[in-house]
Amino acid sequence: RPAGAKPDISREKSSVLFEKAKKYFPGGVNSPVRAFKSVYGTPLFIEKGDGCFLWDVDGNQFIDFCCSWGPLILGHNHSKIKEAVTIALEKGLSFGAPTALENELAELILKHNKYIERLRFVSSGTEAVMSAIRLARGYTKRDKIIKFEGCYHGHSDALLVKAGSGLVTFGETSSLGVPKAFANETIVVGLNDKEALSKAFEDFKGEIAAVIIEGVPANNGLLLQSKEYIQFLREITQTHGSLLIFDEVITGFRLGFEGAAAYYGIQPDILTYGKIIGGGMPVGAYGASAELMSYISPDGGVYQAGTLSGNPVAMAAGIAQLTELSKAGFYKDLNKKTEEFVTAIQRYVSAKNYKVTLFHVASIFWIAFTDQEQIQTACAIDPKSIEKYKILHRELLNRGVYLGPSGYEVGFVSAAHTKIELEKAKRAIFESLDVVFS
Ligand code: PLP
Repeated sequence: RPAGAKPDISREKSSVLFEKAKKYFPGGVNSPVRAFKSVYGTPLFIEKGDGCFLWDVDGNQFIDFCCSWGPLILGHNHSKIKEAVTIALEKGLSFGAPTALENELAELILKHNKYIERLRFVSSGTEAVMSAIRLARGYTKRDKIIKFEGCYHGHSDALLVKAGSGLVTFGETSSLGVPKAFANETIVVGLNDKEALSKAFEDFKGEIAAVIIEGVPANNGLLLQSKEYIQFLREITQTHGSLLIFDEVITGFRLGFEGAAAYYGIQPDILTYGKIIGGGMPVGAYGASAELMSYISPDGGVYQAGTLSGNPVAMAAGIAQLTELSKAGFYKDLNKKTEEFVTAIQRYVSAKNYKVTLFHVASIFWIAFTDQEQIQTACAIDPKSIEKYKILHRELLNRGVYLGPSGYEVGFVSAAHTKIELEKAKRAIFESLDVVFS
């Protein structure tokens, strides 16, 4: 163990639960990244969360920057959400029929978001994106889509595709079980590469239904794109009669109430949402103009449905959460707090000459083991640098700070992180980085 390393926290009960879980679930988990394959030790089994804190089953307490991968922008167990969910619970869990709650959440979203006119609620981000792609294909009557290397859009077949060997190629499947024929409909190009994208449009003239990009790519580090590049995406899609899809599953209601669309001031054709609109419950949504959304069944011929879509308990949680977010000054305060937190850490690592750069936007941050001032593409990340994250992650857990269990994951600051906890977390990060570089 490196100098200054702290003794490991107890994972006794987590280990017992994990051994048991392995008998029930592949890899012992219900979503792969939870298995802690990229960091040290057994995954922590969580007992409860409150505010910005998490407690595991061994009684360890952490300041949480994973925030359930983003949805908990108000922190854990927020009183307003709890109250709304409790009221909804009293009336029943699911009806498979419309409720006023769906209208209420939709109204709250549409009133404050000029980028969409109609929306459809689904139950996850994956489902939202999958449906958006189908809509784009149904509307344009074209089959191919373009995605970017380093962007994650959930686990539907069309999107489990990675770049092939050439500059512009058909994609290759990144999962067993995805038919080659499906991967052939997905073209993967590098981010921030106008030439490759232009070539894709030339090579597949008249065949591209849509280009999909994460509002701000935040699933492979934080790959901040320039407004000019996003504007280019808008223009090239328009020129070729293709649609532009912003996948705002992370950025929606995180960069601001109107997400990345407002951040860039660019109108995409279809937007997908998830995470935050459910306040921790399983909700996703996709939206577009009234004209485009009229293609969705039962109005139009693009089929999409869901037994639990618009689930009343989930809608209640979403209404409570978005009501808080729509209050004046919410994002200003949260973003300022994050900026101060990130700047202080950057100052520390710079003074120490550590090869670390903090990238951030709004209340999302990424600790990168690099001295590059800009990382805009997946291939600009040195995979070896991610090794250092393993030590950082363990030292942070041992000092009561919980970050996502992979160096490619971003961190989230919530409204529940107070100055006191951010100060504590900062000290823990300083000390842990000292160990990483000792
Ligand atoms: N799109 C983006 C940008 C995401 O970050 C994610 C998940 O992290 C998804 C889609 C898939 O969402 P879900 O995990 O809710 O299916």
